[in-house]
Amino acid sequence: MFENLSDKLDRAFKVLKGQGSISEINVAETMKEIRKALLDADVNYKTAKAFTDDVKQKALGENVLTTISPGQLLTKIMNDELTQLMGGSTAELDLSAPLTIILIAGLNGAGKTTFTGKLANYLKTQLKKKPLLVADDIYRPAAIDQLEVLGGQIGVPVYANRESKDPVAIALEGIAQAKANGNNVVIIDTAGRLAIDEAMMQEIERVKAATKPHEILFVVDAMTGQDAVNTAKVFNDRLDFTGAVLTKLDGDTRGGAALSIKSVVEKPIKFIGTGEKMEALDVFHPDRMASRILG
Ligand code: GDP
Repeated sequence: MFENLSDKLDRAFKVLKGQGSISEINVAETMKEIRKALLDADVNYKTAKAFTDDVKQKALGENVLTTISPGQLLTKIMNDELTQLMGGSTAELDLSAPLTIILIAGLNGAGKTTFTGKLANYLKTQLKKKPLLVADDIYRPAAIDQLEVLGGQIGVPVYANRESKDPVAIALEGIAQAKANGNNVVIIDTAGRLAIDEAMMQEIERVKAATKPHEILFVVDAMTGQDAVNTAKVFNDRLDFTGAVLTKLDGDTRGGAALSIKSVVEKPIKFIGTGEKMEALDVFHPDRMASRILG
């Protein structure tokens, strides 16, 4: 579906044959191609422009050795640069507190509840933690059922209070239950909200203020492309989240949203979702995502 970026570069670099270094003239056309490829990969325009300007500066005057083509050289510069832009290395969760509180936020359908289950499963199986999940969606009883099913599948307790209409109280009850049970991580799955829904945004701000989470993870569907970054901006302005989670990367999206989110809101991507199963979760690796974006 996507034209491979190397093919595009090869096309753009035809004019370069026989030249010993990357010059201003031949690099301009190539940067245009790269910018187009990044836009195809859902990187937003501003980020793509800043990136290509930067790569251009780095590439200019570089000597092209006989063993490496200008295309290969530029690809390497871009890979390194993209990796750095996405944080360089993996951003770990802060799990240093005796009882770590993690708040999950995002739009309806982004994959919050699924991620909540996956994260608990990861913490339990990989890091030997004892998580407890809190079903904090008071609007959709089905969301509570969904979390309870997932909790059952992975063997992690779920706190719910179907009688209550107070998300702050439910979250605090869940934390109290975790303390009583000897759990060391609480993951609070909140209701999905539209970024423009003021009442819902105030509600999650109140849950944040009351629970003082160590991590606030913003979950976003990678398939939403350019919208993902706008949503991230609104949620970050309100919640000052500590990391983003890109879901549905098993689809055919290139994942350019990862780069846009990191550069626009300056928060790390911490995990990626790669399927509906509880095991389909990966820690975010900037270098792997760089290769995926470049294709
Ligand atoms: P929520 O409304 O934000 O809690 O979203 P859900 O967790 O209910 O997920 C919405 C839909 O997306 C469900 O059908 C999930 O199975 C699906 N989903 C979630 N994460 C992924 C993922 O990483 N890959 C795929 N393919 N589907 C996902």
